[in-house]
Amino acid sequence: MNYFSTRDKSLKFSFKDIFLRGLAPGGGLFLPNEIKKYNQEELNYLSKLSYNDLATEIIFNFCSDEIKKKELNSLIQKSYSSFKEKEVVNIKKIGNINLLELYHGPTLAFKDIAMQLIGNMYDHLEVAKDKTVNIVVATSGDTGSAAIAALSNKKNINLFVLHPHNKISSIQRKIMTTIGGANIYNIAIEGSFDDCQKIVKELFNENSFRSKINMSGVNSINWARIVCQIVYYFYSFFKLKKNNISFSVPTGNFGDIYAGYVAKKMGLPINKLIVATNKNDILQRVINTGEYKPGIVKATITPSMDIQVASNFERLLYYILDENDSKVGSLMSDLSSKNLFNLERREIDKIKKDFEAVKVTDEETVSIIDEIYKEHKFIIDPHTATGVGAAKSFKNLGDIIVLGTAHPFKFSDTIKKAIGKNLDSPEHLKLNMDKKETFDIIGNSNSEVKNYILGKIQ
Ligand SMILES: *Cc1c(COP(=O)(O)O)cnc(C)c1O
Repeated sequence: MNYFSTRDKSLKFSFKDIFLRGLAPGGGLFLPNEIKKYNQEELNYLSKLSYNDLATEIIFNFCSDEIKKKELNSLIQKSYSSFKEKEVVNIKKIGNINLLELYHGPTLAFKDIAMQLIGNMYDHLEVAKDKTVNIVVATSGDTGSAAIAALSNKKNINLFVLHPHNKISSIQRKIMTTIGGANIYNIAIEGSFDDCQKIVKELFNENSFRSKINMSGVNSINWARIVCQIVYYFYSFFKLKKNNISFSVPTGNFGDIYAGYVAKKMGLPINKLIVATNKNDILQRVINTGEYKPGIVKATITPSMDIQVASNFERLLYYILDENDSKVGSLMSDLSSKNLFNLERREIDKIKKDFEAVKVTDEETVSIIDEIYKEHKFIIDPHTATGVGAAKSFKNLGDIIVLGTAHPFKFSDTIKKAIGKNLDSPEHLKLNMDKKETFDIIGNSNSEVKNYILGKIQ
């Protein structure tokens, strides 16, 4: 199987290439040239598998040229052995909500599910065997800690994590800045997540810098992350044993929900994928009106969704525009020159076949947390609450699975405000609250980040 770029179909890359690069040359995103479509008989077979075996079957489709199935299975077992749930994820019925808990990994957010496996793939693919790899990643709060937990103390790997200064929760920061080994560098950028992501993308596109530092990336634009996230759509769909299932997904960079779209392409009969946004609602606007126009990022109580440039949306566009790579490229150049692009009615209708999108305000989010706690004595995190809020706007959609994207402990301040309770740290989070945090604050510019990285690796 080959991978090509959303902006240039003629490019050909292997899984190992795209795993290491993350971003395609010229700024596009990688997609596979074929997506396996399961028939009913195959789906029946998959529905009987354990989480790890299901993950092996699904992920193998995308990396079979480079990883043997047996080896993949042991990488998966190793990756998920640190999870609190034996089956990695858990489905809980809370009133009429089906909550898919994805936060039982080492840093309490769904990001662990892909990142733990990616960390082990770096070893297995021997990408850092002869030469040190420098991974540069932007985080809105959870990717960073998951990457640190997965890559800390790995040989020949350095990890530089850019987070927006003062714009993530204090526990998100605490986890990130205290759990890492000597190969981890935390950088607080004086800007938003969008600024951090822009810096990382631009450094990737600077060939001389990229090759000089042997740069690699693990942001959700890395296809390997999407692939790992497809698995829990299948798993939860099978576990619910219903026919007409939709998913409601707290969304920022459009990575997690895009994995659901790929699951549907692979033959999983998902009804609708519901995009839940906070007031940074660019995805809600583009899906309902066709206008994609990033604004200034506003701070909310769901910091991991404080994003205005939803990078993975480009991967959906590719299919919505009938696989026309030059059209994708031209919309993306409109975006960089005019800061917007518009979709046609026909294209919006095509998106609406699979997607719905709802904006949930901070006030609504707080009252949902409060309501779920009062009625069910169960505490959900603010991001998950937006997913619940979005699901509630659809009365006739049949069963809805809400993706529980983070453990509430990570957002203790907001939970305290919503329900007046202090939360205890879950046992499997090995967080030392007294440990000194290490991070450097630097300006929002490519050159400062480049100088910082070069200074550290010399
Ligand atoms: C990353 C994250 C999201 C958004 O996921 P995307 O893949 O960026 O859409 C939602 N909730 C939490 C808790 C997250 O960490």
